[in-house]
Amino acid sequence: MHSGIGNAQILADKGIHPVHHLFGVGENLQDHFYTHSVYSCTPDSSLNKDFSSWRQLLHGIQYLLTHKGALTMGASQAVAFVKALPDSQRADTQINFKPVTWERKPDGSVSIIKTPEFSAASCFLRPYSRGRVGIRSNDPMAAPVICANYLGAEKDKQAVLNSFRIARSIFSQPALRGRVKAENLPGALVQDDDALMGYVRRYGASMHHWVGTCSMGSDEDAVVDERLRVHGIASLRVADASVFPLIPSTNTNAPTFMLADRAAKLILEDVN
Ligand SMILES: Cc1cc2nc3c(=O)[nH]c(=O)nc-3n(C[C@H](O)[C@H](O)[C@H](O)COP(=O)(O)OP(=O)(O)OC[C@H]3O[C@@H](n4cnc5c(N)ncnc54)[C@H](O)[C@@H]3O)c2cc1C
Repeated sequence: MHSGIGNAQILADKGIHPVHHLFGVGENLQDHFYTHSVYSCTPDSSLNKDFSSWRQLLHGIQYLLTHKGALTMGASQAVAFVKALPDSQRADTQINFKPVTWERKPDGSVSIIKTPEFSAASCFLRPYSRGRVGIRSNDPMAAPVICANYLGAEKDKQAVLNSFRIARSIFSQPALRGRVKAENLPGALVQDDDALMGYVRRYGASMHHWVGTCSMGSDEDAVVDERLRVHGIASLRVADASVFPLIPSTNTNAPTFMLADRAAKLILEDVN
């Protein structure tokens, strides 16, 4: 947008000479928004003590000597793909289970909870809400304006509420009953839609999967064509997650790698 490509009216308002009007630049922002359910559990079901006490030293040594152990784990040990909206044709929600919980401090650092807990992070994978990103001024060093618009669409709210109830039903299964002690967050008393939504709005967070703001397509909102070329500007391509018109139903790193690989091939084809 600072180069003059984008919604001409917005650019002019910010004192930037429009080079090429493209309405869709910065529009159509999508992200995955997740919220944790947290349960207190038996000590052998959680790694909180291992990561918050002197035992973390043992894990460090084990990793240094063997490259094995808890420090080699991914963020989640089990993932469920479930249908949160009844009319979805296939799974629309990802629930990540983790044997560890933490709290974020005001300075942004994270500290592991000291008591045994595990958690499930529920995330609606195909959100209907659309946000936008834009410029604050004609100063390229100024922070952008980002409006994520999480839960702007009614269906997104419904999916989040339903996914909490699905997570609850998983944690109440006989196989887990011996391990789960109590629901700490949102808490067993938080049952009706308004109370649950209050919890989601307070504790929900971004999965950092932003896409869509230079959307690929042929309609008037599209920014790039099917070969990643910016509409109306010769020899300019976009090759990053912003070209996905719809957010993939998964974490976005691998799809971005795939896109980069495809972009390299397209560029070579055109050069040759
Ligand atoms: C904290 C975090 C955790 C994540 N965890 C996961 C995960 O577990 N799994 C997963 O699949 N995805 C994850 N993601 C998402 C994934 O990282 C992104 O979807 C992916 O990196 C997007 O790739 P990109 O090329 O579009 O953007 P980026 O990876 O952000 O690349 C943009 C690049 O442009 C550079 N740049 C910016 N401005 C300029 C400039 N003016 N000039 C030159 N260069 C510039 C930046 O330095 C950066 O290298 C995570 C993201 C974050 C932020």
